[in-house]
Amino acid sequence: MPEHYTEPVNALYSCMKGTNQANPRCIALEGTVGQQVSCSMYEQRSSSCKEVQIADEQCNKARRAHNLIPLVLVEAANDGQDPDFDRVS
Ligand code: SF4
Repeated sequence: MPEHYTEPVNALYSCMKGTNQANPRCIALEGTVGQQVSCSMYEQRSSSCKEVQIADEQCNKARRAHNLIPLVLVEAANDGQDPDFDRVS
């Protein structure tokens, strides 16, 4: 990861440049927030980036900071198959 992509949080920790502010915008984020974005270094992203999951607290905190509605995970729709049904062949 390029060193200029990070900034210090304290003496021990650093973060992606742009993420430690009230209106976060990571230096590696490409695109327009609210329309379409992607990570320009997805394969090399940090472990802390990998910990964030869609619709989790961190994800929705970032969405709120950009006036986007929070995401809620829903379970996949049942395909109509009864898993307890014994098939006769
Ligand atoms: S996943 Fe990519 S764009 Fe998002 S914070 Fe991490 S480095 Fe930045």
